[in-house]
Amino acid sequence: MANAIEIIEVIKRFGATTALESLSLSISDNEFFTLLGPSGCGKTTLLRMIAGFEAVSAGEIRLFGQNIANLPPDRRPVNTVFQHYALFPHMSVLDNVGFGLKMKGVDLAKRRARAGQMLEIVHLSAFADRLPAQLSGGQQQRVALARALAPEPRVLLLDEPLSALDLKLRQTMRFELKQLQKDTGITFIFVTHDQEEALTMSDRIAVMSAGRLQQVGTAREIYEAPNNRFVADFIGETNILQVEAQPISQDLTRVTLPGGSTLDLPAPPTASGQHSLSIRPERLSLDPQGSLTARLEHVVYLGTDLHLMARLADGSPLVIRMQNSARTALPNEGEEIRISIEEGAARLLAD
Ligand code: ATP
Repeated sequence: MANAIEIIEVIKRFGATTALESLSLSISDNEFFTLLGPSGCGKTTLLRMIAGFEAVSAGEIRLFGQNIANLPPDRRPVNTVFQHYALFPHMSVLDNVGFGLKMKGVDLAKRRARAGQMLEIVHLSAFADRLPAQLSGGQQQRVALARALAPEPRVLLLDEPLSALDLKLRQTMRFELKQLQKDTGITFIFVTHDQEEALTMSDRIAVMSAGRLQQVGTAREIYEAPNNRFVADFIGETNILQVEAQPISQDLTRVTLPGGSTLDLPAPPTASGQHSLSIRPERLSLDPQGSLTARLEHVVYLGTDLHLMARLADGSPLVIRMQNSARTALPNEGEEIRISIEEGAARLLAD
């Protein structure tokens, strides 16, 4: 697949602050790509540089093969949807959607036809003559989307566009956005700090922290094979165990778990010594033959799931997630339990 965007060793400084440290990334044409990370990690800055609202301090951004350093924002085949979408209150929905086209000098008849098509795409044809104030928050956000799509950008940048909506609406809009991206075939670059949002919609996700790219991959890759501790912690829930690791062959590392039992992992050679091991809670289970021993502290009921909160011999906490429907006889709080680790579930992390 062709690349829509290539970000090549881009650095961004604001005075003494380095917002992005030498970041390289390629985004394919037609991809739903998400930049995910906590507040201040640099995701909005990256988006603004793609849009042309900020210049890079070093490095290069290419859009469809072209270096865009000298291309002003309005000449880039890019449009942006912001969190606060600011529709014009005195203009009808149809005129709001056609506004970008008017700025480009498109004549009235063409503008209306195109705006009408866009309203169809976002399922708002029946609302063309209303004013924004006569729409719900979700409908207003869909008008903002239609407005951004009307000038036919090849790339749509979305900066936390759902965060002003309530939870229920946010969930519905996730599916609508995903569908819209599929229907239009436009490359979407979506910025969020909400991991659930990123996991539901994206073809690929770039996890960022402190101006650096931590990992790029599909939701599944990032969840199941986190590169490092930050990614393991930030995406979903995980248990981090401190283990002793020792390489025993070219592609096998033996780790000693808290409590003393050992586990051989198909991991590339790792320096001997203390390492962090990540294990997702749903990949642990109660098992009298299990390799981990812990004391059960609490059982938390979460509807379909149960969380067993336990403590290992070295004092570190361990969460085991089980399905509630299993109807297994549960041990009592305070009892010692044995736990087995599903094959392939434990991952040594680079710190
Ligand atoms: P949020 O989710 O809170 O919007 P973010 O991940 O989008 O965060 P950015 O807004 O890109 O983060 O900011 C990255 C870093 O750059 C932060 O440390 C921020 O304070 C700094 N920064 C951003 N814009 C400017 C600016 N115009 N001047 C100075 N520093 C800035």
